[in-house]
Amino acid sequence: MKYITEYRDRNHAKALVEAIARAANDRPMTFMEVCGTHTMSLGRFGIRELLPENIRLISGPGCPVCVTPNAYLDHAIALARQPKTTICTFGDMMRVPGSTSSLEKERSQGADIRIVFSTLDALAIAREHPDRQIVFLGVGFETTAPTVATAIKTAANERIPNFSVLCAHKLVMPALEALLAGEVQLDGFLLPGHVSAIIGAKAYRPLLSRHRIAGAIAGFEPTDILEALFELIGQITHDDPKLTTAYVRAVTEEGNQRARALMEEIFEPTDAEWRGLGTIPASGLNIRKRYSSFDAAERFTIEVEPMREPKGCRCGEILQGRIAPTDCPLFGKNCTPTHPVGACMVSSEGTCAAYYKYRDA
Ligand code: SF4
Repeated sequence: MKYITEYRDRNHAKALVEAIARAANDRPMTFMEVCGTHTMSLGRFGIRELLPENIRLISGPGCPVCVTPNAYLDHAIALARQPKTTICTFGDMMRVPGSTSSLEKERSQGADIRIVFSTLDALAIAREHPDRQIVFLGVGFETTAPTVATAIKTAANERIPNFSVLCAHKLVMPALEALLAGEVQLDGFLLPGHVSAIIGAKAYRPLLSRHRIAGAIAGFEPTDILEALFELIGQITHDDPKLTTAYVRAVTEEGNQRARALMEEIFEPTDAEWRGLGTIPASGLNIRKRYSSFDAAERFTIEVEPMREPKGCRCGEILQGRIAPTDCPLFGKNCTPTHPVGACMVSSEGTCAAYYKYRDA
């Protein structure tokens, strides 16, 4: 299959693993992946186990559902409890525990909560049910924000009055900045392929050069990731931290300017709360005033319950890269994908879910 088999070639992967071992020598290096799909690929293809012991990979805040704080879920749940209201969401959000409930529980108790596969589905539901308020849960990084911007623009153009978005979109660059100001010592970032396709390779250069830290943009197949790791190690051993793109089939220097222009038209940056990282300046997206009639937070004045964190859950430290899921005493015992305690065990891109799924791989 084009674009898959050639990036899973055993011999190429083996040669890269050997090249990495030679290049890394004995020097300890720590790299962070900031993309949930990378976390999953690392587990699925057993890449951590193929690396020499001195190369440590840690997971960061790459799972959009995981970094979304409980307060947002509580808000979505409060909206779901309103009469004549339908919540539309991607499936990952359903089982994430809020302070006292989850969307899945609310649905089992009669709330109209629908899993959709795109924002277009949510718009179609709004057109079909003009007597109901349709609220789409806008969660995700620069990869999903343009599709939500498109939905808002379409709703404005078509004058669909019963569609709105509860917006919690996040931006990757401010999170990288916050991580570098934190306690975790990093030698480099394995940078997200999908986000980079939108923001463009050049977006990272100022940050990497200011902090003299290595960076490599990677795709999601095994040889994509191994090539990016080889590049990162080369940057460190040659004392030449910079940006390398090891995913040129999808990522350009400029990125997707059309998608960014659309985001710029609909959203404006705002300070945002991240699970584990706290409030990061200008790291989230708000719907602009011009489109505020499509902002569910503006449209509905409702009471939201006070936020509570799940007892014993250490998602916050995991999202900062301070501990691995296996350091959480609840991992695999009280907390499993069937009975998740925290968001990181629920999402298909969550670090705890990835470690659990591939723990014996
Ligand atoms: Fe939270 Fe469960 Fe992960 Fe522990 S294993 S940090 S309880 S999600």
